[in-house]
Amino acid sequence: MAKNASVPYKQFVESGNQLVVDDKRNAVNIYCSRPSCHSLIMRAKAGQLVERPKSKLNITDNDILAINDTSAEVEEMQQYWQLPNMMAFENIGFSNTVATGIKFLACADCDTGPLGYHDTINETECYVAVDRVEYATGT
Ligand SMILES: [Zn+2]
Repeated sequence: MAKNASVPYKQFVESGNQLVVDDKRNAVNIYCSRPSCHSLIMRAKAGQLVERPKSKLNITDNDILAINDTSAEVEEMQQYWQLPNMMAFENIGFSNTVATGIKFLACADCDTGPLGYHDTINETECYVAVDRVEYATGT
């Protein structure tokens, strides 16, 4: 039963210093946030901190509408851990591809999600939202 302790992103008051090491990589192992699961999703330094639109995580019935949306609205950004491909994860599940070309990432063990996304049309990288996973404490 003994599992590594982990805490949510919001508990880090200085997340930029505590969670990021050289080259903007994640300092510690990252886990599923469901207490009964706590599966290892990615190891320390597997990801790199980037900003992408928050709306990428929206699960919508209006996929077609989203594609044709040409509004010049400034998109709200949020931070993600960028991984080079799906092989960089320890444990991750992918949804079916929706009409916008997005696959959603979920915990491979308990299906909690979406934890992030993979844009099958534009990029090979995968993105995990920094505030939807937990972080190992200590070393
Ligand atoms: Zn899980």
